[in-house]
Amino acid sequence: MYREKGLLIVLSGPSGAGKSTVIGGLLKRRDDIRFSVSATTRDPRPGEEDGRDYYFRTREEFLRMIDKNAFLEYAEYVGNYYGTPAGPVDECLEAGYNVLLDIEVQGAAQVMERRPDAVSVFLCPPSLQELERRLRGRSTDSEEKIKGRLDKAVQEIGRMPTYNYTIINDVAEDAVRELDAIITAERCRTARKLYIISEGDFIS
Ligand code: ADP
Ligand code: 5GP
Repeated sequence: MYREKGLLIVLSGPSGAGKSTVIGGLLKRRDDIRFSVSATTRDPRPGEEDGRDYYFRTREEFLRMIDKNAFLEYAEYVGNYYGTPAGPVDECLEAGYNVLLDIEVQGAAQVMERRPDAVSVFLCPPSLQELERRLRGRSTDSEEKIKGRLDKAVQEIGRMPTYNYTIINDVAEDAVRELDAIITAERCRTARKLYIISEGDFIS
C-alpha cells in the first residue's frame, strides 16, 4: 500500500457557529484525523484543559514563540492572540494523518497562502439570531465578549467566498457528515494521487 501524506484542513466560522461541536463529532467518526492544538493568550473556559483544548500562554510567552518563528500562522482575535504551532502539524502530516485546524479568518488566509494544498471549509450558522442564541447558551463569555464576537461574525461571514467549501451547521450531525464527506473526496483527488505514477511500480 502507498504511504500518503495527510491532508491539511482549515475550518473557520464565527465563534459559536459550532466548530468545536462538529470537530468533536468528526473525531468520533474518523481515526485518521489529528486536531491541531493552538496556543492562545485567552483564559481557559470551565472544562477546558491545557494541552488538550489549547496551550494557554501568557502574552510574553506567546510573543517569544512568534520571535522563534514557531507558528504556521497567528492572529489577534477579540483582544487575544491565537496561533498554530508549526512543528506538530508537519509531523502529523508526514505521518499520514489529516490535520484539522480550527482557526479564524485572518490565520486561515495565511495558511491558504503558505499551503496551497490545504483544504478550507467555512462553517456557517443558520442565521445571526441562532448564532446569538448559541453564544448565550454556551454561557462562557461576558456580555461584552458576546457583542464583540457577534460584530466579528458579520465580517467573518464576508470572508466565506475565499473558502473551498461551506457547511451550514443547522443540524450538527448533518454538518459532521458533510465535513467527513469533504475529507474523503479530497483525499481521492487525482492530483493527490499522481505520486502513484512517479513512485509506484506502474512504470514499465
Ligand atoms: P465554536 O467552536 O464555533 O465557537 P461551539 O461548538 O462551542 O462553537 O458551539 C457553540 C454552542 O452552540 C454550544 O453550546 C453548542 O452546544 C451549540 N451548538 C453547536 N452546534 C449546534 C447545532 N447544530 N444546533 C444547536 N446548537 C449547536
Ligand atoms: P475561542 O476563543 O472561541 O476558542 O476561539 C476564538 C476564535 O479563535 C475562533 O474563531 C477560533 O477558530 C480561532 N482560533 C483558535 N485557534 C486559533 C489559531 O491557532 N489561530 C487562529 N488564527 N485562530 C484560532
